[in-house]
Amino acid sequence: MQRTNIEWADSTWNPVTGCHNNCPYCYARSIANRFKSSIETIAKKCRVSALAFTPGKNDATYEGEYHCPFPFGFDPTFYRERLAEPQSKRKPQRIFVCSMADLFGPWVPDKWIKEVFNACKAAPQHKYMFLTKFPERYELLYRKELLPELPNFYYGTTINIEYQMDTAYWTYNPKVRTFLSIEPITDPFPMIGYELPTLFTHDMVIVGAETGNRRDKVIPKREWIDPIVRECAATCVPLFMKDSLIPIMGEENMIRELPEGLKL
Ligand code: SF4
Repeated sequence: MQRTNIEWADSTWNPVTGCHNNCPYCYARSIANRFKSSIETIAKKCRVSALAFTPGKNDATYEGEYHCPFPFGFDPTFYRERLAEPQSKRKPQRIFVCSMADLFGPWVPDKWIKEVFNACKAAPQHKYMFLTKFPERYELLYRKELLPELPNFYYGTTINIEYQMDTAYWTYNPKVRTFLSIEPITDPFPMIGYELPTLFTHDMVIVGAETGNRRDKVIPKREWIDPIVRECAATCVPLFMKDSLIPIMGEENMIRELPEGLKL
């Protein structure tokens, strides 16, 4: 686990890394590929017990004292030795689970997700925040009775462009706590034609701008943000603006709300 600058979390925890999505603004892929270990390094230093180097089927377990960051680059990889980390932290934290992966991508086996959930359950002092671009997986897990209905588990969905709006519906499940992360906002947020009460029946909405220096970086306009502010206010949904919006909104207009259940 690592302390994080992500404003809505205290730390990140990555028992699984990697993703087969191809988002152009993905910071996680750049980091993973930068620190990817060579096969020679893994063999000499890390003593990885399972070297199943098949994309999507990696299941690496470290045995040695050395640590190899991203032994398989950005291919999905499960680090079982990290599962106990939340238990080692007694002070309650908001933990962003798998900030370097999409834990709910269709390539991730149910058993990995189940082990991650079990590790979270073993450290109930923390709040766990999950985030995916595949919220339909929440629904599939729910139907299999594998999605914990716990008050400290928050299931988030990242949306940023219009066609992804439809995916937001998958996250609506009154039995579990959910949130939307509109980040990075890359287009005017579509409001017309959607059932706003359904869309905003979540426990929180996060909105942020793209960061970094990508050549085609999108700088959002204030008029893209204002409708979200209005809808959240009208539906009493806590809104959390990330600091990346300060240049657009001005510090005096920033809103940083959390639902009661996420307050420590
Ligand atoms: S879904 Fe997330 S982790 Fe996967 S490529 Fe996109 S931004 Fe990166």
